[in-house]
Amino acid sequence: MRTELGISVFEDLLHHYPYRYFDRTQLVKIGSIDESIEYAQITGKLINITEEGEGRKRRLVATLFDETGRIELLWFQGAQWMKKSLRENERYIVFGKISAFNGIYNIAHPEIEPYNAETAVAGMQPVYPTTEKLRVRGITNRSFAKLTAAMFERIKHADIAEVLPADILRNYRLCNRYYALRWLHFPDTVEHEQMARYRLKWEELFVSQMMIARLRLQHTAQRGWLFEKVGDYFNNFFRDHLPFQLTGAQKRVLREIRQDTATGKQMNRLLQGDVGSGKTIVAVMTMLLAIDNGFQACIMAPTEILAQQHYFGISALVEPMGIKVRLLTGAVKAKARREILAELATGTTEIVVGTHALIEDTVQFKNLGMAVIDEQHRFGVGQRARLWKKNEMPPHILVMTATPIPRTLAMTLYGDLEVSVIDELPPGRKEIKTVHRRDALRAGVMEFIRKEVDKGRQAYIVYPLIEESEKLDYESLMAGYEQVKIWFDENKYRIAMVHGRQDAAERERNMQRFVKGEANVLVATTVIEVGVNVPNASVMLIESAERFGLSQMHQLRGRVGRGADQSYCILLTGNKISEESKKRINIMVSTTNGFSIAEQDLEMRGPGDMYGTKQSGVLKFKLADIVHDGAILDETRVAAQTVLAKDATLSLPEHQPLRYMLLQQGKEKHWGKIS
Ligand code: ADP
Ligand code: MG
Repeated sequence: MRTELGISVFEDLLHHYPYRYFDRTQLVKIGSIDESIEYAQITGKLINITEEGEGRKRRLVATLFDETGRIELLWFQGAQWMKKSLRENERYIVFGKISAFNGIYNIAHPEIEPYNAETAVAGMQPVYPTTEKLRVRGITNRSFAKLTAAMFERIKHADIAEVLPADILRNYRLCNRYYALRWLHFPDTVEHEQMARYRLKWEELFVSQMMIARLRLQHTAQRGWLFEKVGDYFNNFFRDHLPFQLTGAQKRVLREIRQDTATGKQMNRLLQGDVGSGKTIVAVMTMLLAIDNGFQACIMAPTEILAQQHYFGISALVEPMGIKVRLLTGAVKAKARREILAELATGTTEIVVGTHALIEDTVQFKNLGMAVIDEQHRFGVGQRARLWKKNEMPPHILVMTATPIPRTLAMTLYGDLEVSVIDELPPGRKEIKTVHRRDALRAGVMEFIRKEVDKGRQAYIVYPLIEESEKLDYESLMAGYEQVKIWFDENKYRIAMVHGRQDAAERERNMQRFVKGEANVLVATTVIEVGVNVPNASVMLIESAERFGLSQMHQLRGRVGRGADQSYCILLTGNKISEESKKRINIMVSTTNGFSIAEQDLEMRGPGDMYGTKQSGVLKFKLADIVHDGAILDETRVAAQTVLAKDATLSLPEHQPLRYMLLQQGKEKHWGKIS
């Protein structure tokens, strides 16, 4: 049965929380309202209820007055319905946002209730979220309050079972569950309301951390291949073939991987490192470690182009040591494919680089011990799981991502993976200069790019392509392309274009022209976002930058600054842009640190739909908020680990309520779908 607001039993009502309170102790005299007051609660008599305007401009206006002054109340929607439910000369209690128009204060769409014995009681009264549908049927905020109050009259302390163990309540000074729920609905003081809220947030985050900690226990119980030694390939490479000195961060991550693979358990590690931080070499040396121990290794990339780039880069590094590397993608022809498959099955190929083609069932390894997955957000968990079936025991897994994930999110989303971070860029990188230019200065921008190209550099010009308005975007991309051809003399410069409507082969061909340096300028949509490496490209021009999200702009900017030259990122926007867009663009201009950008992104947007987590529901909390409750999150994580250290299977009597609750939650949220 589908129910409005998901409420069907009393228990649901208990968890239908008020989103704010009428604080009846805080009544304001109408005469004392001035510019400094944003929201006010007032009481007074209602007069002059009149409808004004015609058609869509129709609205309801009324005046509320007390002994000190008068204020207007306005309704632009539901005017008729409101008119029927309001009575002139009655006293009301009203709450809302104060605005001024022509020197007269007003409140549009106020919360309004008759003033009577029931509503006038002092103290905090809950305000519940409700829906239009319910309101029309007479189920108002007040009805929720009544029902919930009636429920609390009937239930006793013992009816609301505690789920948190007693020592946790004590150690973290949390109020018990009965009072938490009671005080959240009907607080007698502000302090009690805060205690209640804190405790319930704590419970939400604790439950999520328990879920994750248990997943992690399952993972770490998984046996894995034991890499007994660091052998000749690894050591020789380090000594003779490494083209540069590893950064401290790269060394640390390699040590962490080495430790994991020496335990006899399966490694599940997430490697986070900003674009250009040097994750590839870590992957290469990790694969050498596998080969040293008699295993094969594979590395998966999300696109054909990336797989190719890895293939060329990695072969150049390791083939001098006699290691055989192969490329397996959807584009490989049948005959070559058969050969590669045979080599993988017999073990004559040690490293295979590829795309999704690698997880197909026809790909059989002699002895796969290590799988590296580059740019994780394009691979689903299900796909990763298929890698597990490639050997009698699952290979070690290293997932690499250039999407920096704020710490609190990582703890919630990837809490079941070990996390390594490369937080240091290779030395000698020049900071990418980022500027914001408005459309009016377009000519100057194009002139600048032409000069860079004349110096021998290459440039990206990227257009937004966002699904809802795909057709329009496509047209503006084409118009942009025609423009670029005018700015850049066609006889002198070569322009390539890639976008999602080309078929894969054509896109590939155009991309290759740019990669090989045959094209000076690449006009593109965000299909180039991930991982492409063209060190000679020194300008990234983002068109309509006001339409891009922060993480997307950061990823795009990461395409330049890969060579020795000074690089530039130009954010071109319309002449007028919104405050939000301005904020994002200022962040881009002020920092190139991906982690800092990710934190600010999270703060601006909230975790709602970041990193495609919306479906999993894992980040859906009723009260807790991952941006602002980081401190509670830290506490709950430690607490969850402590509980499981003492009682991994949750079989102690004091853990039974908790265990039951986790079971319930496990059914509701798709925990298996994360990581
Ligand atoms: P990403 O982390 O974005 O995958 P890459 O692995 O592609 O980064 O590395 C970016 C560039 O930096 C490559 O050209 C690589 O050769 C170079 N690089 C990586 N590590 C170092 C280092 N320690 N010193 C100097 N250059 C490095
Ligand atoms: Mg990379």
